[in-house]
Amino acid sequence: MNPKDGNGCAFRWSRRRLMQSALTVAVGGMVFVETQRSTALGADCADKEEQSGLRESLHYTEKSPDAKQTCQGCAFFSAGEGKQCGHCQILGGSVSEGGRCDSWSPVQK
Ligand code: SF4
Repeated sequence: MNPKDGNGCAFRWSRRRLMQSALTVAVGGMVFVETQRSTALGADCADKEEQSGLRESLHYTEKSPDAKQTCQGCAFFSAGEGKQCGHCQILGGSVSEGGRCDSWSPVQK
């Protein structure tokens, strides 16, 4: 079937149009995956680029699996303003009050 003779498919995509559509789908997919990941983790306090290697090596998570061991109760945490985020001395950046990492240490009373 030849689309030019009127008997074939009347819908033709140019290479440029095809590439634009593929790029749109790819970017949309990446945004969707990142949104789903952030939602699953809870409050999104951390800058994704900020010390990401250290966060990964210390298994930092925005939602602690243990309610008794959260960043809010850690000696290295200082509260921030709003959004349930604060600052961690170990990670050197923003963390969630309800987060946790392997360096969790209780506040001394
Ligand atoms: S050391 Fe870990 S548990 Fe403590 S505030 Fe930082 S990220 Fe949270």
